Amino acid sequence: MSVLQQLAAQIAAQGPITVAEYMRHAVTHYYAKQEPFGAEGDFTTAPEISQVFGELIGAWLADMWQQLGSPTPCVLTELGPGRGTLMKDILRATRHVKGFHAACSLHLVENSERLRALQQHTLIGAHPHLSWHDSIVDLPTQPLLLMANEFFDALPIHQHIRTPTGWAERRIGMHEGKLVWNESVEGEIRETCPEGEAIMASLAQHIHAHGGAMLVIDYGYVEGAGDTLQALRKHQYHPVLEDPGEADLTAHVNFAALAQAASRSAQTYGPVTQAAFLSRLGIELRTEALLKQANDAQKQAIVSSTRRLVAADAMGTLFKVLAVTSSGLTPAGF
Ligand code: SAH
Repeated sequence: MSVLQQLAAQIAAQGPITVAEYMRHAVTHYYAKQEPFGAEGDFTTAPEISQVFGELIGAWLADMWQQLGSPTPCVLTELGPGRGTLMKDILRATRHVKGFHAACSLHLVENSERLRALQQHTLIGAHPHLSWHDSIVDLPTQPLLLMANEFFDALPIHQHIRTPTGWAERRIGMHEGKLVWNESVEGEIRETCPEGEAIMASLAQHIHAHGGAMLVIDYGYVEGAGDTLQALRKHQYHPVLEDPGEADLTAHVNFAALAQAASRSAQTYGPVTQAAFLSRLGIELRTEALLKQANDAQKQAIVSSTRRLVAADAMGTLFKVLAVTSSGLTPAGF
């Protein structure tokens, strides 16, 4: 049964579904079945654009580990590692940091079996202690270093719409074999992501209890967004209710809400733009170092991929970076 048929059966039995139910179903199927990443897929993420991204984040994580007092043992975690490219670059960039790899065990939070296999393939031989988790609940209770790039945007959101008689949850029904919005009115839309906030609150508590630092990087906003639900297919926007499970379905991340959820138990920094964060971490210097070893064709690719990460008309401004740490640390980049 296709996702559309499953949703049609559910709507026929129980009535219109929430945006969160729709997203959970579509996103789970999408990552289980599709090949999302790169030129051949639906979208390209920062670690797939340039190795510099993971190298700078590796340096950031190693610096946090040292500021924590080089705790051993320590948990190095990534949420939603995709193809495993970011973790591979982090490990390569930190291999000379004395004691770091030996102190850390690696924990990848990933619910797609297909992507787990891909991550295993990418990371073979990169680290002796690798394990996979369905969620953050069973991470070891040790100091935590955590990275999440384009993870929170995939979590289910709820949408509420302002009607003449008050706020109502937006729902999706069926009409003549197609998914349709259930409401008859148009009005202001607000989004919430309780699952994202719960994950953030729980990680902040972990960091408060055991020490640690985490970085969240994603496209998102700090205030006032409205309807941000979007679908991407082959690098083009796609109607959000068409082809569920076949297109990448996401919402922009509400960084103010995430920071608030974390700030109840840990320190928060930012969000700042990805451009500001990467430039404070030295992306220009690292790019120049790579250019020195490159031939002419490579030079062009290096310059254009750094540009994509930081330019205002590419990822530089839309993408934001939020850090959460235990007290007494000074995270770079903010
Ligand atoms: N971080 C990677 C991939 C981002 S795509 C990169 O930057 O390239 C989103 C990733 O999150 C995928 O690996 C997807 O399978 C995973 N994911 C999405 N929702 C999830 C959930 N609820 N639990 C665990 N993993 C999830």
